[in-house]
Amino acid sequence: MDDIRILAVSGLDALIAELRSRGYRVMGPTLRDDAIVTGEIRSAFDLPRGIGDEQEPARYRVRQREDGAFFGFAAPAQSSKPVFFPAEEVLWRGRRDRAATSNHGTSNHGTSNHGSANSDPGFTVERDHLDAQPTALLGVRSCDLRAVQIHDAVLAGRTHIDAHYVARREGTFVVAVACGVPAATCFCASMGTGPRPADADPGTGEPSYDLLLTEVAASNQDRHHFVLEIGTDAGRDVARAIETFPADFDDQHEALAVTAHAASLQTRSIDTATVHDDLRASAESSRWEDVASRCLSCTNCTLVCPTCFCTTVEDVSDLTGDAAERHRVWDSCFSEDFTYIHGGPTRESVKARYRQWITHKLSSWEDQFGMLGCVGCGRCITWCPAGIDITEEAAALGRMRADSLAPTGGAVPAASRRV
Ligand code: SF4
Ligand code: SF4
Repeated sequence: MDDIRILAVSGLDALIAELRSRGYRVMGPTLRDDAIVTGEIRSAFDLPRGIGDEQEPARYRVRQREDGAFFGFAAPAQSSKPVFFPAEEVLWRGRRDRAATSNHGTSNHGTSNHGSANSDPGFTVERDHLDAQPTALLGVRSCDLRAVQIHDAVLAGRTHIDAHYVARREGTFVVAVACGVPAATCFCASMGTGPRPADADPGTGEPSYDLLLTEVAASNQDRHHFVLEIGTDAGRDVARAIETFPADFDDQHEALAVTAHAASLQTRSIDTATVHDDLRASAESSRWEDVASRCLSCTNCTLVCPTCFCTTVEDVSDLTGDAAERHRVWDSCFSEDFTYIHGGPTRESVKARYRQWITHKLSSWEDQFGMLGCVGCGRCITWCPAGIDITEEAAALGRMRADSLAPTGGAVPAASRRV
């Protein structure tokens, strides 16, 4: 049982202090504007202690809990996505060198975070400086941890990597938290992504977390504590530096019971055995008209999703024309402009955009990356102003496909790329 210890409630602050003393910027759940979002954690006081949440389609509320739980809520309003993949960042800055221009372009004095500069005659380009401080993710949920692993594969695991993502992600220390209180919108159990984090990334086999906390008996002040499981040598090193206590099999079972109970409370699900083929066969389904009549194409679902990674670039310049910047900002497949190419967008209708989004999440993502693009966090259900529910839409498409395959039904229509 060496790799399972007990951390007292008072030890949480020591853990945060230890991580900060090792140079980590600790990021975790904080309460801001009546929502739990990701922010910097300087001590245990920054955590939303005693705060719970209520989530339903198109509804999110925080509420006061009657106990002192530190992690007594489900998927926060914001995942840890912006920590490594911010909503907006500067890719490069350009500056006109007037002296060099008048000297027929001899400027060559730019700098970059990699120690070199790209200089055209009379125009200096500086790459944006990245904050090199390593991050410790504290309290990251199983669904969001799996989303980080998906981003690792998509943004850092292919031939062309996202250098900014890799720089931010490098050296991350993960203190995961096993989920004890799912929201009504959660369905991680059916996706195989929670409520307890997998010990290893299913894609790479690398450990999922350095430390895993399960909060136990929050309602009983005398017994309230964390079961702390060690996932890596780095985690062991940190655990040794703070006060912990021996754990026994009862403690381990108590921790496992927390997540087993959380899984049993989930009422939504997606059938991962059939959803890939269901979506693939549904390109011409009449369901798309139905969902398009409800969808506002507002992009909320993509912005809250921990796995969505589509971006665009925007160029801005000052009024003198001497300085310009290229920004990368999150974009969405629900934006009409997202597919604009020489003369018009390829997905003009809302039904085409919704179909693209859900089909990518639950079907073509698997063809592209060998995994599904949904981790069952339920945020797209909570934050959709129309209350559109990805589990309901997937189930409806599955039923319609099953009906069409029944002996009295028609043939499955051929897939089409455009509407
Ligand atoms: S598609 Fe919805 S439920 Fe799935 S990961 Fe994205 S926000 Fe979460
Ligand atoms: S499904 Fe909901 S959240 Fe997504 S674009 Fe449509 S209305 Fe907005």
